Amino acid sequence: MTFVPKFMYRRMDIIMSNYCDLSKKQICQFLGIGLSTKEKATKEQLLEHLSSYLVAHEDEESRLLDTFPYELAVGPNELEELLHCSRAERKLWTKEGKIPVLEYRTFRIAGKEQQYPVYDRRIVRAISQGDVLEWRAAQKALAMEHRKAGRRRAAESKKVHQKMRQEFHAFLQARIDEWRERGSVEIAAVFQLAYWAAVASHWAKENRIKALQGTARAAIYTMLCDTWYGRKNEAVYVLFQTPYAQLSFYRPDAPDKITLQLCDAHYSMMREEGYENKWAFYEQNKAALTCCSECLVNIEKDYYALYFLEVAAKTCPDTHFSFHVPYTIGKHFFPAPEDLPRVNHVEQEGTFRFGRTISRYEKIVQPEHDTYAFFTAALGEVRRLYRLDYMHIPPLIEP
Ligand SMILES: [Zn+2]
Repeated sequence: MTFVPKFMYRRMDIIMSNYCDLSKKQICQFLGIGLSTKEKATKEQLLEHLSSYLVAHEDEESRLLDTFPYELAVGPNELEELLHCSRAERKLWTKEGKIPVLEYRTFRIAGKEQQYPVYDRRIVRAISQGDVLEWRAAQKALAMEHRKAGRRRAAESKKVHQKMRQEFHAFLQARIDEWRERGSVEIAAVFQLAYWAAVASHWAKENRIKALQGTARAAIYTMLCDTWYGRKNEAVYVLFQTPYAQLSFYRPDAPDKITLQLCDAHYSMMREEGYENKWAFYEQNKAALTCCSECLVNIEKDYYALYFLEVAAKTCPDTHFSFHVPYTIGKHFFPAPEDLPRVNHVEQEGTFRFGRTISRYEKIVQPEHDTYAFFTAALGEVRRLYRLDYMHIPPLIEP
């Protein structure tokens, strides 16, 4: 047994933990120990022997690594420890080829095969802490460069967007002046409110789509969607009070929403009598199902029907706005459908369009906070002109 000074113990521990993947046979082969010794000694003893040997013969370690490069490869966690680097750094430097991968190995987790890289210990040893610091500094400089370029791009597009907004508002102002000259101050105010109400509706839809994408911010988008629909409905209600609005009612072919759950007995009956589906069965057995205490039949009358509000003035024949409000919401503040004229089709909202109406453009020239400011100003103006300041506003969205 080779003599080992005390201060060498730590180094021995490190060697033992690094080389414990070697088999007894491999250790004996390397140390040139006979087979009989191998069988008598435990692996622990052999490893200790190997450690002492390597401590005493430092240059022998590279021969060991050359002999067993795969057995003595460095795993990802150990590499991070050896280089004092983060996981992200290891991945990046591996991707950049700074630390070559010896091979990929697989392990199974949750029934799936996952791959992880292992590195050649000889190469890892050749990497100094100085190399690591240099790589890290280069990475930081590059990130700063990217951020700078990003800020430059943002500043440029901000300028472009500002110009687009200016052009848009000049165009809108020209239309407002025209409404005032051809029509009146009241018409100009009513049309402005109608315009911003259409934009409010657009923002409501935008937020609804974002909410449906199911991200972490979904609850915020849902709240924004409801807020914008509330604003739009308030505007529609206020517009309805002016002489330039006309309200009608649209009832589609199947206006009711029916919720239907059959009980076991009726479900079996439906199957036995060979109905195509529960709706066909319901059509033929309305009375029985409605009376059955086990079946669930719920009919929401006119659920799919709509109130349809048009805003127009004879003196400005080129301009026309239209809105629809679901019956379930409008019934709280609009007259009963029986008292209104019927329409047979429903137009898209906001038929008053600008030349370059694409949603990306609209998002730039009338962002949400701008829309809110213009909408609020327009609403206040119409309320003032028609003395609606203290008008009670009923519930505007469904609870
Ligand atoms: Zn039933």
